[in-house]
This record gives sequence, C-alpha cells and structure tokens, in this order.
Amino acid sequence: MPELPEVETTRNGIAPYLVGRRVQALVIRQPHLRWPIDAELVARLPGQRIEAVERRAKYLLVHTAVGSAIAHLGMSGSLRVLASDVAVGKHDHYDWRLGSGRILRYTDPRRFGCLLWQSTGTTHELLADLGPEPLSDAFDGDHLWRLSRGRKAAVKTFIMDQGVVVGVGNIYAAEALFAARIHPNRAAGAVARARYAHLADAIRHILAHAIRRGGTTLRDFISPDGVPGYFEQELFVYGRAGEPCRACGTPVRAVTLGQRSTFYCPRCQR
Ligand code: ZN
Repeated sequence: MPELPEVETTRNGIAPYLVGRRVQALVIRQPHLRWPIDAELVARLPGQRIEAVERRAKYLLVHTAVGSAIAHLGMSGSLRVLASDVAVGKHDHYDWRLGSGRILRYTDPRRFGCLLWQSTGTTHELLADLGPEPLSDAFDGDHLWRLSRGRKAAVKTFIMDQGVVVGVGNIYAAEALFAARIHPNRAAGAVARARYAHLADAIRHILAHAIRRGGTTLRDFISPDGVPGYFEQELFVYGRAGEPCRACGTPVRAVTLGQRSTFYCPRCQR
C-alpha cells in the first residue's frame, strides 16, 4: 500500500508538471473507485489552472482557484505524468489532459483510491479530523504524551491513529517503536514523556529517511518518472520474524495487534 513517503514521492514527481498548467479536460474510464469520482469535480475542474500540489496525510490536494481535487492512491494506485499518446491499460481509470499536452494518468488495479472535490473555503470531511503532519512543527513527543494520557490502547495502535498523527503506517510504526525501544503492546497511557520524545524523533527520522529514498512499501511501486521505486533493505524488525535482532541477536517476534502484523524484539523493547 502506498504510504506517506510514496505519496510524498508522487507529489514531488508530478508537481513540476502540474503547477501553472491548465486542466483542459478529464477523461474518465472508470468512475467507480472507492467512492464514485465526485460529480462536482467533473463539472468544475476542467478549465482551471493548477496553483499548487500539496500532500495532507496520504491525500494529494491539487489546488485551483475554485477548489481542490483530493486524490488518494488506495491500496495499489499510482499517478503518473505521461505523453498523451501512451496506450491506455486495463487499470487506467482517469486522465487529466493538461495544457502542456501531457496527461496525468491514474492507474489502480484494486480501485480503492478516490478522486474527490473540496470547494475553496471548505474542508472535506476526510480531512477534517486529521492529526498533525509528522514532519511539521506541530508534532513532537509532548503532543503524543498529552494525547495518550488515560489511553489503554496499545502504543502501536495509538501512533497509527490518524487523529493522533497522520501517515504512520504499519512498517513505520514497528520500526519507530524499535528505534525508541518501546514494546508495541504497551498501553499508550503508560509510556513516559521522555520515551515519547524518543518515539517522536524516531517517527520523524524514519519517515524523512523514507521520503529521501523514495518510499519503501510497494515492491512494484513505480515513481512518477517511471523508475522502479527503491525498497527498503534497512528494516530492523518489520518482516523479520525469527531473524536475529540487529541490535542484540534475539529472534525478532511477530504478533497480531489491531489486526495488523507487528514485529518487535522481546529483549530490546519494553
Ligand atoms: Zn534486540
């Protein structure tokens, strides 16, 4: 599944081709994504000039004067800027025809992505209750510590809650908890303030590193310029059940927590 770093990589890849360009037309081949493509977007986006491309959590926001398109890549989606004559594949669900003559094409075999609309001056309900961006100044250990008081949920579940902080997917949560030496199953409310400072630093460091490297999760992820994405060779615990901990040699353990597999070192993480 594309995680925050892949979405940021997509943003970095497509923004230079979008900003300043006009959307001449939309070509929709399959309107039934996770939700139907927003009719208001279909009515209002053509003719608009793209002012900026932003990422919020795992949503891409393409801003125009009258509103913003909100795109999510779902489980298997990708957005690429292509020449207009590139042959259409079975899973190519929509194109934006740009004033430059190029197209922005969305490909998604599983169709869990979406394309929605937010009029200028409003906030779409999907964006209304999101926590801070992990790489913003609003996110730090004290933020986690304050929100976690009284919470009995496992700390891993807590940091993956999009209302707490956005974009901490399963891999990043496991790796950040290892870096901070915190057991994933510990109650969020029982983690001390100083340990949350380490955890927040670890989350920022791991996500920033993944963004620099172009994302980690999808082995077949294709970056917007068509280069196969790098996938991580540096994971400490994720996907390493039974293999020796890179810090102490104890076999890494796998458990299911909140219906997600999680990986941890039973010796290093408390
Ligand atoms: Zn260990």
